[in-house]
Amino acid sequence: MRIILLGAPGAGKGTIAKALMEADSSVQISTGDILRNAVKAGTGLGKEAQGYMERGELVPDTLIMEIMESRFQEPDCQKGFILDGFPRTIPQAESLKLLLEKLNLKLDLVVNLDVPKAVILDRLTTRRTCSNPECQEIYNIRSKLPTADGKCKKCGSPVVQRDDETEEAITKRLETYNQKTAPLIDFYLREGLLKTIKSTSSEEIVSIIRREIGLSG
Ligand code: AMP
Repeated sequence: MRIILLGAPGAGKGTIAKALMEADSSVQISTGDILRNAVKAGTGLGKEAQGYMERGELVPDTLIMEIMESRFQEPDCQKGFILDGFPRTIPQAESLKLLLEKLNLKLDLVVNLDVPKAVILDRLTTRRTCSNPECQEIYNIRSKLPTADGKCKKCGSPVVQRDDETEEAITKRLETYNQKTAPLIDFYLREGLLKTIKSTSSEEIVSIIRREIGLSG
């Protein structure tokens, strides 16, 4: 499958992408994960991106497009991809359109995960993430606990709160989403690719997406 997951921070894009991948050979591409790994590794990209990320602002479009152009060339993208957190602005969506045309690839669907604001705020403040860049499993201090000593159940690495999940950064990220990313809903509506899903159940969301793109249940 070749799909885009749209939705505010905390709407569940990462969780849905991982669930979709389990039943399909498509790869999850999360620009947020790529950037966090670059920050951790202290690369040039990481150094450029870190300040924006900590403030809850978007990293410049040119940097993101450089990352994505090279990411799409990697062989694992051939079987399909689930874009999680990209595109985030109209210029990114326009560049993506040109890039996919150049690569002769067509999107199957753009999913807009429409989750109430109260649920989003609650999820972001209670979310914890595995610190292993290869894993990044998502936990929740109320509904999906790590081990008793705070380790990831999949890989055993410490489970932590993301640096941009302080109250101040969350408020800024939601503001940025409304200003810069929400206009993509209309963009993809006009492209005839949009499906809005109003649900907080991952099972239900995954099954709607699979049905939409012609995979069973
Ligand atoms: P995420 O994990 O998708 O919430 O992304 C975390 C942070 O990485 C965002 O708050 C941005 O600072 C940055 N980021 C991730 N994806 C993008 C993107 N497509 N465009 C610009 N900045 C991004």
